Amino acid sequence: MPQEFIQRHLRLLPAVDRILLEKILAEIGEEVPRSLVVETVKEVISEKRSIISRAAAEKELELLNISPPALAREALEKIRGKMEYNLRPVLNATGVLLHTNLGRALLAAAAVEAVKGVGASFSNLEFSLKTGKRSSRYEHVEELLCHLTGAEAALVVNNNAGAVFLALNSLAAGKEVIVSRGELVEIGGSFRLPEVMASSGAFLVEVGTTNKSYLGDYKKAVSEKTALLLKVHTSNFKVLGFTAAVASQSLVGLGRECGLPVMEDLGSGVLVDLSKYGLPYEPRVQDSITAGVDVVTFSGDKLLGGPQAGLIVGKKKYLDHIKSNQLARALRVDKLTLAALEATLRLYLDEKKALQEIPVLRMLTVPSDVLQHRAEDLAVELKKELGSEWQIGVSREKSRVGGGSLPLVSLPSCQVSLELRGVNAGELAQKLRRSKPPVIARVRKQRVLLDLRSLKEEEDKMLLETLVRTFGSAGPGQNGGGK
Ligand SMILES: *Cc1c(COP(=O)(O)O)cnc(C)c1O
Repeated sequence: MPQEFIQRHLRLLPAVDRILLEKILAEIGEEVPRSLVVETVKEVISEKRSIISRAAAEKELELLNISPPALAREALEKIRGKMEYNLRPVLNATGVLLHTNLGRALLAAAAVEAVKGVGASFSNLEFSLKTGKRSSRYEHVEELLCHLTGAEAALVVNNNAGAVFLALNSLAAGKEVIVSRGELVEIGGSFRLPEVMASSGAFLVEVGTTNKSYLGDYKKAVSEKTALLLKVHTSNFKVLGFTAAVASQSLVGLGRECGLPVMEDLGSGVLVDLSKYGLPYEPRVQDSITAGVDVVTFSGDKLLGGPQAGLIVGKKKYLDHIKSNQLARALRVDKLTLAALEATLRLYLDEKKALQEIPVLRMLTVPSDVLQHRAEDLAVELKKELGSEWQIGVSREKSRVGGGSLPLVSLPSCQVSLELRGVNAGELAQKLRRSKPPVIARVRKQRVLLDLRSLKEEEDKMLLETLVRTFGSAGPGQNGGGK
């Protein structure tokens, strides 16, 4: 029921036009559309109106400042927020290299350049410069992929989940696919092999047990309804202990014997031998091709270090079949992806260059003493810039690859640790998430940890500046965050 004090307060609310006259709004830059300013002022008034209407006692409204300058300031703050992109770069100080929520692999500089070029201009996406006739968008990367993996043919689709789905639908719809029970993976909740299989129209036939599968298990399951033998790389977990899995090569042997194609979903899909760089051996795409696997699928934005994409390589006979599936169109990649992928793949023509220039590979292989130096330098600078109430140190927690890759590998890493007396570390981390650019950190035992392994060297300076701006002189206690 409307009380008298509510009516009185509502009448005190300034009009939209009155607030718009406030200097900070009247002189707002031309880059802000006037309609946005007006709309935001109306929003602010409407919020105040509802606060006033809900008030149960006049006392509650005593602190409510509804003067035109106050409402104009509030509107300006909101307008600034609205002018920012929703999707924007962040500094990943989590130590997780392939963080699906933070966009997985970073593109190499060459890939970024390629995207810029093709995005801002027309391109020969599906046009042959030689003949002047229509061509296929996939040609730009097919030869490269074949060269790098040893495969006869290749196709690129939207992502690896799409690649698995398309391959299953093309090769086994209405028929059976034999998979080991130990390989029925779920990746990040949205990709579960049994579900992908069901939606592709193929029927799953599980063989073996969770920890052990033998070639004989596959053999027994083969019937005239079988269309495909499938092997899935358990890329985000490992079954340890009493285990047995059938090697790709043996599965290929059985496939040949029964006249069935063999497909392998590698998940991450590396092209370089990581064991040369002190990491555990991860099966390479080339290994599967050499073993004779007919169709291999893997992601573009995991350890390959390129754009989101699903890569399918293998025998021409099967690839032709997959390419001619109508669903390929629904899963097709756009020109920006192709540009980034081609540039990334080209870097692999020289392995040294790939390791140097592909951010994921570089971060994966950077020696921990380099990280330690970077962390120490950063800590020294921070001690200079932040007040003595801050505890700043260097810690040595492990970091992870993430993104469903190399599940057992924990990389020795180095972090700058931050602590502010009397302030909850979670609060500090939240402050960092809201800074510009946002910094995503870990919180561990009441300390904020900034891991350097997932940051590019050239980002250290930006991190320092952001920390100083966010926590400088005022500190978070005094509603700080610099300016
Ligand atoms: C990551 C992964 C997928 C899904 O790949 P996306 O590119 O994320 O769609 C499928 N299978 C395996 C084994 C994976 O590791």
